[in-house]
Formats: sequence, C-alpha cells, structure tokens
Amino acid sequence: LREAERQMRERKRSRRPDALPPRWYDDRTVLRDMLDQGRVEVAYQPIVELASGRVDGWEALVRGRHLDFGPVSPMMLVGAASKLRMLDELTEAVLDQSLEAMRTVTARLGRPAALSVNIEFEQLRLDSRLLRSLPERIAGTDVRLVLEISERHVSRWSPAQRMVAGELAEAGIGLAVDDFGTGYSALSLLTSWEWHWIKIDRALVADLGTRQGRTVLGHVARMLADLGHTAVAEGVETESELTALRDLGLALGQGTHFAAPTSADAVLASLEPDAP
Ligand code: C2E
Ligand code: MG
Ligand code: MG
Ligand code: MG
Repeated sequence: LREAERQMRERKRSRRPDALPPRWYDDRTVLRDMLDQGRVEVAYQPIVELASGRVDGWEALVRGRHLDFGPVSPMMLVGAASKLRMLDELTEAVLDQSLEAMRTVTARLGRPAALSVNIEFEQLRLDSRLLRSLPERIAGTDVRLVLEISERHVSRWSPAQRMVAGELAEAGIGLAVDDFGTGYSALSLLTSWEWHWIKIDRALVADLGTRQGRTVLGHVARMLADLGHTAVAEGVETESELTALRDLGLALGQGTHFAAPTSADAVLASLEPDAP
C-alpha cells in the first residue's frame, strides 16, 4: 500500500497540466479500451446497521485506470461516459463484476445482502435494454439489487420514469436517493416513491460537530422516519459521529469509520472468521 501511495504521489508530481492529453475524455476509444481491457474496476464499501454493526450490503464504486495517467476517478469516468453516450456500457461493466462478486459474498455469508449500484438519472429509461436485463441477472441469487440516483437529478422524475421504477420494483429491484440534503430537489421527492433507502449526504454528517448541524440532522432523521423511509448516513468517519447517528435513531451508515472502499478479494477476506 505504501508503495502504491508513493507511486501515486510520484505520478501526480510528474503530471504537469500540459502532460495530460487534451480532452482524453472526448475520445471514445480511450473508454472503449479501458472497458475492453479490464481497466474499469469496482471497489466495494459496506453499508452497516448502526445498532448491531452487521453488514447489510455493499455499494459498488467504479474505478478506472488509464495506461499512461493512472487512476481515473468515477466523476471523470461517468462524465466521459455520459458525453460519449456510453453510460449503460459503463454500468454494465460495474454490474457484471459486482453481481459476480456479490454472488460469492452472499454464498460465503449464508444470507442475502444488498448490492447498490449508482446510476445516472438519464439511465432510467423505458427502452433501456440494460434495465430490462436486470431481473434475469439477479434471478436465483441472494443479491438484493438497489440502484442509487443522486438527489441532484431526481427532480426531473417523469411519468415514463415512474413506470420504469414500477417495473423495477416488481422485479424486486429498489431505488435509493443518493446525496440527500445537499441538492436542490423539492422535498416532495420523499413522497414521490417508496425509496429503498434515502442516503443522507456526508456533508450533513460532517456538520454533526456543531449544534446547528445536529439540529438539522435530527430533524431530517425524524422526518425520514415519520415518512417510513430507511435512512443511510454517508461519510461516517468517526466514533463520535457513529454515536450521534445511533442516538438519532438512524438505521444504517457507510463510511471510512467502518471500511473504505476495497477490492472484492478484500471483502471476502473480511468475512473470514477470526482464527480461533
Ligand atoms: P456516492 O454514490 O455518494 O458514493 C460515496 C462516495 O463517498 C464515494 O466516492 C466513496 O469512496 C466516498 N466515501 C465513502 N466513505 C467516505 C468517508 O467516510 N468520507 C469521505 N469523505 N468520503 C467517503 P467515490 O468512490 O469517489 O465516488 C464518487 C461518486 O461517483 C459516487 O458518490 C457516485 O455518485 C459516483 N459513482 C461511483 N461509481 C459510479 C458508477 O458506477 N456509476 C455512476 N453513474 N456513478 C458512480
Ligand atoms: Mg452512491
Ligand atoms: Mg451516487
Ligand atoms: Mg452519496
């Protein structure tokens, strides 16, 4: 890990602005090659029950690797894929890898677990071949698939998209609101669907250190509970945040305090019972 970090710092230093290829993200072949050559990978981060510490499931977070420029952030990958109209291909790569990994994980766990995958709002289309393939992809598995959509975009929720959401629900696939509380969506989105989860943005969790921050999160938590939603706190980094969130009665949390995003192998290793 030290070595990987050193290499990353080295690469950052040597990466003068003019050393970056001009607008590589406009080049379809770059993303195509990354997908074809297995340089689009998935990291997994557990979503944990705050009361018991039990893992409810994992979020799949995409990571890319450029042969010359090293790691590519999800923001960059998703931005490029959106421009190049390759979002479904990117999501398909994430689903292929993460469903495969989660099949192994749930078998090892001996119980069902959630797998949540981020999608862009524009991917929620009636004619989406990818979405139509989902029921078959999860059939016969113990994987509870959840699709996360950022609050920033859900305000454009249309009747057609509701139909898609309905079809997904019938197939047992949940939808979650991501990054709740920092976008500009109307609060009416909370009553617009039976969301599997509402994921409270980490900015609100980070504000728990202040009295005002605790007041805001307290009211948000109460409102979500009164509406019957299950809340997930994002970005839980410290023990004191965990304690505060538990006291507020939040059900689930995710963040470096529990685990940073890791490889599928590391997830499997984390399930190994401690040596006697
Ligand atoms: P997100 O869905 O809100 O995912 C949570 C982000 O917070 C992840 O960043 C995760 O690594 C980071 N994080 C987790 N725990 C902590 C913590 O305790 N503290 C802090 N400061 N950060 C934490 P990441 O992996 O860089 O992903 C960024 C965003 O990219 C994601 O935000 C998600 O919206 C998007 N994304 C990731 N994978 C995909 C994908 O396959 N498809 C799409 N469309 N978007 C993706
Ligand atoms: Mg997410
Ligand atoms: Mg997201
Ligand atoms: Mg989020």
